[in-house]
Amino acid sequence: MSRYWSDLARQLTPYVPGEQPQGTRLVKLNTNENPYGPSPAVLDAIASISPDELKRYPDPDSSALREAFADREGLGSDQVFLGNGSDEVLAHTFQALLKHDKPLLFPEISYSFYPVWSELYQIAYERVPLRGDFTIDVDAYSMANSGILIPNPNAPTGVLLAKADIARLLETHPDSVVVIDEAYIDFGGESATALISDHDNLLVVQTFSKSRSLAGMRVGVAFGPAELIEGLVRVKDSFNSYPMDIVAQRATLASLQDEAWFQNCCQKVIATRERTSHELSLLGFEVLPSSANFVFARHPGRDAAEIFAELRQRGVIVRYFDKPLISQYLRISIGTDAEMDELLSVLEDVL
Ligand SMILES: *Cc1c(COP(=O)(O)O)cnc(C)c1O
Repeated sequence: MSRYWSDLARQLTPYVPGEQPQGTRLVKLNTNENPYGPSPAVLDAIASISPDELKRYPDPDSSALREAFADREGLGSDQVFLGNGSDEVLAHTFQALLKHDKPLLFPEISYSFYPVWSELYQIAYERVPLRGDFTIDVDAYSMANSGILIPNPNAPTGVLLAKADIARLLETHPDSVVVIDEAYIDFGGESATALISDHDNLLVVQTFSKSRSLAGMRVGVAFGPAELIEGLVRVKDSFNSYPMDIVAQRATLASLQDEAWFQNCCQKVIATRERTSHELSLLGFEVLPSSANFVFARHPGRDAAEIFAELRQRGVIVRYFDKPLISQYLRISIGTDAEMDELLSVLEDVL
């Protein structure tokens, strides 16, 4: 605390990201990174950048990249917004589209950055309960609101909401902006982007950190009606005109163009997730059905914080949230088959 801090800086409770240990040899299953790395074409694209390109500012609007996204999604390039990680895209969304008179609604259990942005931008919010099995009940979003924000699949549960439920939410809340945070959609869900043409209140946010294995690059994207995207651009151009550096723009384009690499990595992660869920249940864990690149599991006979600490001691890091309703769960990212085998054998030992 310093007397030079603003009142706002004093009052913030910042988000705490998962640990990124440097240098040590650990099985790192705590931040939902993708173990396979980006397409080799991404590294070629990075290597091909010239000094002349680096000395200039990048294209502030990432035009070539927005065109490529638009083509892939069957949208116009004015329906695509890019940012420095989807965390930044979401932060701009809070400020541009979710700050109104009535509160913002999001699930009681969801991405723990949502309340942090709400506090930063002084946006009133309410948490909406889940069903007992951690599924989202769209009928529970009936109180007065100006915006609804749902991660799909949900984080940290991994549970998927059907596209038909999202369509119903859009139809029953025509005066609210509905934001679907699809950080994990490529691991088995169906994107809501197809609903954009029929709904002027839908924004879909995705990231290259998980399915595209580019967490180190910081690339996020939003798809929506041109008017919503224009709102995001207004905030972006009042904050940082160049959120996507030249390296990120070129690397992202190369990643988008290697569809086969992308599909193959996602399929491998899905297969390993299904095997891991099965093996965990054999060890006595209750595992929620996951459509993401992590599983959320509890062991009825052992305290989750204890298992977490014992795993950490043996060189395996997973994520533990000491929060109401989920304090007996562990969130375990899906790594390679070899990494999951190590987790399983260490767990067997711990149990
Ligand atoms: C990982 C994650 C993000 C942030 O992704 P970045 O693009 O790396 O900033 C956003 N939302 C959810 C639900 C996530 O899990």
